Amino acid sequence: MIEPRADLVLLDLDGVLMDHRAAARAAVVAWLGPRATSEAVAAWFAAQDRRLAQWRAGALTWAEQRRARLRDVLPVLGGGERTDEELDLLFETEYLPAYERAWAAFPDARPAVDELRRSGVALAVLTNGSEQQQRAKLRATGLLDRVGPVFTAEALGVRKPDPRAFLTVCERLSVDPRRTLYVGDEHEVDVLGARGAGLQAVLLDRDGTAPQQEAAVIRGLAELRALVVPSGR
Ligand SMILES: [Mg+2]
Repeated sequence: MIEPRADLVLLDLDGVLMDHRAAARAAVVAWLGPRATSEAVAAWFAAQDRRLAQWRAGALTWAEQRRARLRDVLPVLGGGERTDEELDLLFETEYLPAYERAWAAFPDARPAVDELRRSGVALAVLTNGSEQQQRAKLRATGLLDRVGPVFTAEALGVRKPDPRAFLTVCERLSVDPRRTLYVGDEHEVDVLGARGAGLQAVLLDRDGTAPQQEAAVIRGLAELRALVVPSGR
């Protein structure tokens, strides 16, 4: 296990601080009601993962990936063809409000953030996703004032795992990438992405699905403080 000297702990948001998957599941169940079979919920997450990967690769815009997710899932629900406008309306009025109502921080997020702050290490957030929505998540979960500066893919103009996303944050905060520890829940996007940019990285593996070859793994945010040695201490 690593014991990095860190000037900055850079945190992912979805899956690390906020339980995106639980909120998304609650939203699908609320949206679909009795149609929320296990098949439909599985189809929703498969579509989400596939379309967000295409968005990360630059093949779809943010709006297009939302529509594509709905077009993937509606046939499973017996739905027919919809226009872009109908899909946007459906996403914004049926799925999104339920998703927002279900936003919650992981129970270990706030204690870990506060403990890291007390240790003297600087904190920041680097998250893929939209500026408005990611900030709203942090505000709704009571974390916005505690996590330091927030950098989103939308505002940066580049997305993880692009090394420029990580390096731009380090540059803006005047920290050495080698003394920055990225904490993320997606191995390729977060951990390999951060290392590719010269940062240190640790995988937060809440569900025990980490790749076997990965040595830098924690199972909860409470483990983070023990493995970060603030620089200058
Ligand atoms: Mg994540």
